[in-house]
Amino acid sequence: MRQLTDRLAESAFAIREPIKPRGNLKIRPFSMSSGFPTSARIYMDANATTPLLPEVVEAMLPYWMEHFGNASSIHLHGQQARTAVDRARETMTEFFNCHDAEVVFNSGGTEGDNTALVGLLHPGDHLITTSIEHSAILEAAKRLAQCGVETTFVAPQPSGLIDPSDILRAIRPETRLISVMLANNETGVLQPVEEIGKVAADTGIYFHIDAVQGAGKVKIDVRKIGCHLLSISAHKMHGPKGVGAMFVRRGTPVESLLVGGSHERRRRAGTENVAGIVGLAKAAELAIDSLADGTPDGPITRLAKLRDRLETAILRIPGSGLNGAGADGKPVPRAANTTNIWFDNLEGEALVIALDLKGIAISGGSACHSGATEPSHVLMAMGLDKIRARASLRFSLLKTATDADVDHVLRVLPEAVEHLRALSPVAAGTLS
Ligand code: PLP
Repeated sequence: MRQLTDRLAESAFAIREPIKPRGNLKIRPFSMSSGFPTSARIYMDANATTPLLPEVVEAMLPYWMEHFGNASSIHLHGQQARTAVDRARETMTEFFNCHDAEVVFNSGGTEGDNTALVGLLHPGDHLITTSIEHSAILEAAKRLAQCGVETTFVAPQPSGLIDPSDILRAIRPETRLISVMLANNETGVLQPVEEIGKVAADTGIYFHIDAVQGAGKVKIDVRKIGCHLLSISAHKMHGPKGVGAMFVRRGTPVESLLVGGSHERRRRAGTENVAGIVGLAKAAELAIDSLADGTPDGPITRLAKLRDRLETAILRIPGSGLNGAGADGKPVPRAANTTNIWFDNLEGEALVIALDLKGIAISGGSACHSGATEPSHVLMAMGLDKIRARASLRFSLLKTATDADVDHVLRVLPEAVEHLRALSPVAAGTLS
């Protein structure tokens, strides 16, 4: 099988432009029209990352050259930067439904997840999380095991849903933190965080939510959920990469991972990424507007309809099925943009490469693990065997996806599946 994927990959790389020498690098003025050379391609990998929306770029632009000040400086340049950070914090209070003192800007989802676990847990404490979390949680839990923090990994039901009663059953006297994701990055399945929040409140345990994939797709209300900590990342919601935010409920004794200056009320040292923070807030503002529009033509409803049309048509391909369905075969609650589908008798990685060659970007498993040939830990935890997990693909639509994008994928995909099945050693029974 590797030979097939290697051959496909070689041809994919062959069509990419050679790297140009950097000697006479000239800075060209920014142009929106030349800014998206991949526009002819169809991108259905929004859960890996999203492009910045033009409004976000526009909001950020002044903070690189014109208002470049350090938000800690007391002169005018510093004041301009501080005002921008303060305004961004105001927007985030609306996004989370919290106070401004409860917003901490950071570098993104990995930092938020690491901070929640490493900043709150001490030797002898017990952590409850799930076996379908992102590696930013799973690896942090692994690191904590070396310092005497034990973790219980609650498994999902075959649908991908976590049962709150399984969380309740895992609680011990020394349990200090429950950490559960809002939306799964691979299946889009939305976890019952409000019910889990009740379990945490009833038992007096801290509760962190990795909301990186849910942010911008479902409304977040930290008061309603009752969590103590919640992490988001700008680049999953049409904001810039390398910036994010955390909600930290007042009085939550979480220690900063980074020490140094007294930035962010001593909860996260390091000069603020002003342009990034402004971009995050703009993306959050646009998301608030989208989520407020619940009309049939509203952006989220429109996106869910597009996803459903895509999914229904793909599932007509013989030997395919949905990851994220309940016992009745119907999808459980999911983020509006995501579907994850298995295809019998083919290798998912080969299909990802074949579609890439046809100008369609999708993903098998999590992009953060790209290059890894191990089947998805999420799908395996849901009970799929290795072959079916490897033969699963994630389609995650951008907010800007169109009917034409879906039509094009539906024209190309069935033929690609058929072609690969004819070549596949999985079909021939030579791959285990
Ligand atoms: N948590 C989840 C659920 C994710 O999907 C990701 C990224 O894919 C992360 C955390 C890490 O976020 P970041 O890329 O901002 O570090």
